[in-house]
Amino acid sequence: MQIINITKTDEEVQVSAEEKAQRMSICETCEHNANQYCGQCYCILDVITGLKEKSCPVGKWNVSLL
Ligand code: SF4
Repeated sequence: MQIINITKTDEEVQVSAEEKAQRMSICETCEHNANQYCGQCYCILDVITGLKEKSCPVGKWNVSLL
């Protein structure tokens, strides 16, 4: 299990609104989207798509380098 450091600022932890929207658009058409949960990692899509340290478990989008 990955633990996120909550002492970081929002800017350090969260991707931009544009990057989150890009990630969500990929998830929305993904065959593993199970009613807004990822059927591969069981995360809530609205949460993981907004976090820099997260990546798609099957490689459809990656950790943010920004
Ligand atoms: S995180 Fe990846 S596998 Fe999961 S729903 Fe999104 S695109 Fe699909």
